[in-house]
Amino acid sequence: MANYDPKSLIADEFIHDGEIRETLAYAEAHKDDLALVDRILEKARPQRTATGCVCAGLTHREASVLLACEDPEKVKKMYEIAEEIKLAFYGNRIVIFAPLYLSNYCVNGCVYCPYHSVNRHIPRKKLTQEEVRAEVIALQDMGHKRLAIESGEDPVNNPIEYILECIRTIYSVHHKNGDIRRVNVNIAATTVENYRKLKEAGIGTYILFQETYHKESYLQLHPTGPKHDYNYHTEAMDRAMAGGIDDVGLGVLFGLERYKYEFAGLIMHAEHLEAVHGVGPHTISVPRLKRADDIDPDQFDNGIDDDTFAKITACIRLAVPYTGIIISTRESETVRSRLLNCGVSQVSGGSRTSVGGYTQTQRPHDTEQFDVSDQRTLDEVVRWLMESGHIPSFCTACYRAGRTGDRFMSLCKSGQILNCCHPNALMTLCEYLVDYASPETRQTGFAVIEKELRRIPNEKVRRVAAENLARIKNDGCRDFRF
Ligand code: SAM
Repeated sequence: MANYDPKSLIADEFIHDGEIRETLAYAEAHKDDLALVDRILEKARPQRTATGCVCAGLTHREASVLLACEDPEKVKKMYEIAEEIKLAFYGNRIVIFAPLYLSNYCVNGCVYCPYHSVNRHIPRKKLTQEEVRAEVIALQDMGHKRLAIESGEDPVNNPIEYILECIRTIYSVHHKNGDIRRVNVNIAATTVENYRKLKEAGIGTYILFQETYHKESYLQLHPTGPKHDYNYHTEAMDRAMAGGIDDVGLGVLFGLERYKYEFAGLIMHAEHLEAVHGVGPHTISVPRLKRADDIDPDQFDNGIDDDTFAKITACIRLAVPYTGIIISTRESETVRSRLLNCGVSQVSGGSRTSVGGYTQTQRPHDTEQFDVSDQRTLDEVVRWLMESGHIPSFCTACYRAGRTGDRFMSLCKSGQILNCCHPNALMTLCEYLVDYASPETRQTGFAVIEKELRRIPNEKVRRVAAENLARIKNDGCRDFRF
């Protein structure tokens, strides 16, 4: 039996089943120890420093105690601190992106995914480079600047060369004032050599969902194909980092296994990346299992309700304060509205989850990966964010200025966000308003920009930002950044 070792590079040692079970037993035994719960909450709270703000984060054990605690007062406090952390490190900005499905050819047998290889009735489709270009133009015409590309795993139909070619195509399209400035990649676990190629192609974050950290379940849920190899999949982020990618995105597909087990595994994974590479995950996604072609979520026993889902999100926020949290359009407007106050920092908008979906007038369902709950247009999502007190941000500056990995984390901690990310968010929002927004959204947006501009503390930055905003509006200039 392997020993628990967060620094090990072997999956069974850094995601250690025995340690998770002990953690869950400890959390169950201490969940009503309110003095302990208070100490953990105090530890999680942001502390002001001379130069900014720091947060201690929580260990997987501490965070698991909070997740198990059901005391209504303490749960309320968790939400309050989650919001405090979010505001301290990310402000009221919410970064926007869209998924782009390249291919649904897949050789894996994932039992929860409609792309599984034995699904014979889903049409298989792979975009040609011409089609990629058309999809990117459609996305640019909506106003998107940041994409997450998605693909099934199929070494013959979607080899790494195909993915790299698609990335080159995406970056090469400049339609009207549009451009895609950051491509994140969500493809199956691969080799260090391929990760290096992705890095060289200029990707932002490499995203790979663990699906479940429970090895036995993992093996049953992925009965066939290369993804069946739990260790290869779980160790993927270490290979990605060895290949030079320093922004990686974790995630669990909630609904497959018991959520407390998954939560402990997820935080342990973050601790492992921190221990080995000196930098935790850039993002954590919290997808929930959805209905899809050939997939009935009721067939899975571990679905979680909206309250539990919100609590998990808040506890992630407390445990890993510098990691962005992503919520997709798998969730409805109502759920997304609630989660915005639990520490979420990125949302997708106007998404289509089918291969070639953005160029169709009607939302196609034939090759969809999951049912999209939030079917609003990007314009509606942008307006909704602003009306609920947030700044929709299309900013991609950090990654383009080389502020990735621990350099991004330092920016977070330095208290410079209001002098850097805040004006960048306003300038990219202004581009969106001028180029793509409806008159109503434009009107709301310009009022938001005017109000938010006053919050930039540094006078010089405030002046330059105001000048740049005027040049975006009046002179057709684009792509300013701090
Ligand atoms: N093929 C790649 C892999 O195996 O990791 C990644 C891309 S897959 C298109 C993206 C993610 O969608 C999967 O990691 C999974 O978590 C999620 N997914 C699959 N089926 C789903 C469903 N029925 N409902 C919600 N999400 C689902």
